[in-house]
Amino acid sequence: MGGGLVKVRIPPNALDNLEHLQPLKDERDETGIFLDLDGTLCQIVDAPDAVEMPSLTRRYLEALSAKHKIVVIISGRAASTLLRIVNIPSIIYVGNHGLEIIEGGKRRILLPEGVAARMRSLGETLRSSIDCEGILLELKELSHAIHYRRAANPVKARECILRELDEIDLAGVRMTEGKLLVQLRPEYPLDKGKALELLVKERGIRRILYAGDDTTDLDAFRSVAELVKGGSLRGYRIAVRHPDSPARLLQLADYSVEGVEEMQQLLEWTSS
Ligand SMILES: [Mg+2]
Repeated sequence: MGGGLVKVRIPPNALDNLEHLQPLKDERDETGIFLDLDGTLCQIVDAPDAVEMPSLTRRYLEALSAKHKIVVIISGRAASTLLRIVNIPSIIYVGNHGLEIIEGGKRRILLPEGVAARMRSLGETLRSSIDCEGILLELKELSHAIHYRRAANPVKARECILRELDEIDLAGVRMTEGKLLVQLRPEYPLDKGKALELLVKERGIRRILYAGDDTTDLDAFRSVAELVKGGSLRGYRIAVRHPDSPARLLQLADYSVEGVEEMQQLLEWTSS
């Protein structure tokens, strides 16, 4: 109460600086386009199942995928769900915050089997023990999310979730909070950034565009910064801005776009 306004840095708008992003179009055979899904390509919706990919966005993704070395959708959702939503076979799908990859129809789980088994059993525990008003359990085998976007009283719902989680054995589990959700991921050094690094190395990528809107995208922002620092690679980190964007994301981004609509315009330019 009564605190001064916190000054949040707004990165320059990417659409006003397209000449600086030109290397992404000039060297397409070395370029990887990494895109978060919810809040970046698609509007965030109350029920995660109701998400819709705009048909224009899908068209631009298809064009990108035909021209660029790799196009990667990278999200907290399960990779199989991403494939179903986006439905472009030539795209690489990194799911569960970097714990699994579907590429050319083949799935790779990057977690050791013991850790994966631990997360599967946690899913069963959550199903039987978390019961709060207006929440939605998203059990994704390797990681899990508890959404309270639809709760009549989100503050109360969050409190209830945290209280009930407190009763569960969360050894080996990392709890983080995102936009109106609580995430449970394995305590294991894999994240969106590590998956990005793996694909960059495997595919010889030297130009990176990464666009995202939430806290887990920070892991990828940091990896891009490290890769840029370490060598001849160029990276462009785009924050997709919403009224509730994490300040840290805006701080680390090279450029921003205003919401999903401007992100679509950036994809149109990049794919043309
Ligand atoms: Mg997002």
